[in-house]
Amino acid sequence: MKLKSLEISGFKSFADDTKIEFEDGVTGIVGPNGSGKSNISEAIRWVLGEQSAKNLRGSRMPDVIFNGSAKRKPLNRARVTMVLDNSDQYLKSEYSEINVTRKLFRNGDSSYQLNGQDCRLKDILNLFMDSGIGDNAFSMISQGRVEAIFNSKPKERRFIVEELIGVSKYRLGKEKAKRELDQTAGYIDRVDDLMTELG
Ligand code: ATP
Repeated sequence: MKLKSLEISGFKSFADDTKIEFEDGVTGIVGPNGSGKSNISEAIRWVLGEQSAKNLRGSRMPDVIFNGSAKRKPLNRARVTMVLDNSDQYLKSEYSEINVTRKLFRNGDSSYQLNGQDCRLKDILNLFMDSGIGDNAFSMISQGRVEAIFNSKPKERRFIVEELIGVSKYRLGKEKAKRELDQTAGYIDRVDDLMTELG
């Protein structure tokens, strides 16, 4: 799997439609302070389903929409599309190229698309879960995160290891199965009570 390109429009400092192609050999992005380098990695984080405005250095999610400059009026919509080469089938999908789009309007309307089809946030999260690039994964380490990992408690660090080795989905499945078992045990108790009452 490989990140092929990123299309950013109306997101943070990227007011105009901007396409960044990650050709073979691209290993870094350089630019003056405040030119938007971190905004690019945040666009990736956002399109992968990030739900915390704080993780994107904002206080509310609409803060990611271009909010104007000396020469330009604010925009009403942010849109990011990420294109991945999946010809190695690293992500479990029938597509050899995966296209993920997220949009947000100032009035709060938002949408996600997978290869041009409207989908739920959950579909995006499922696709990337345990891939190493999901919303909580460690392929992206923001400034300050390294320190946070060092200072985290053993239990929090365990989550990091679980995500890295790809067992998170089994843990979630186990928790779901346990809830269902508990619910079923409750039903059985109820049936036992009724049987006793009926003699
Ligand atoms: P540094 O090298 O200092 O870390 P950088 O190149 O990573 O900087 P960013 O932090 O990505 O730069 O970009 C910061 C710029 O983005 C600031 O000029 C800020 O005003 C602008 N910016 C952030 N959010 C928005 C927004 N919603 N609308 C318009 N501009 C924004």
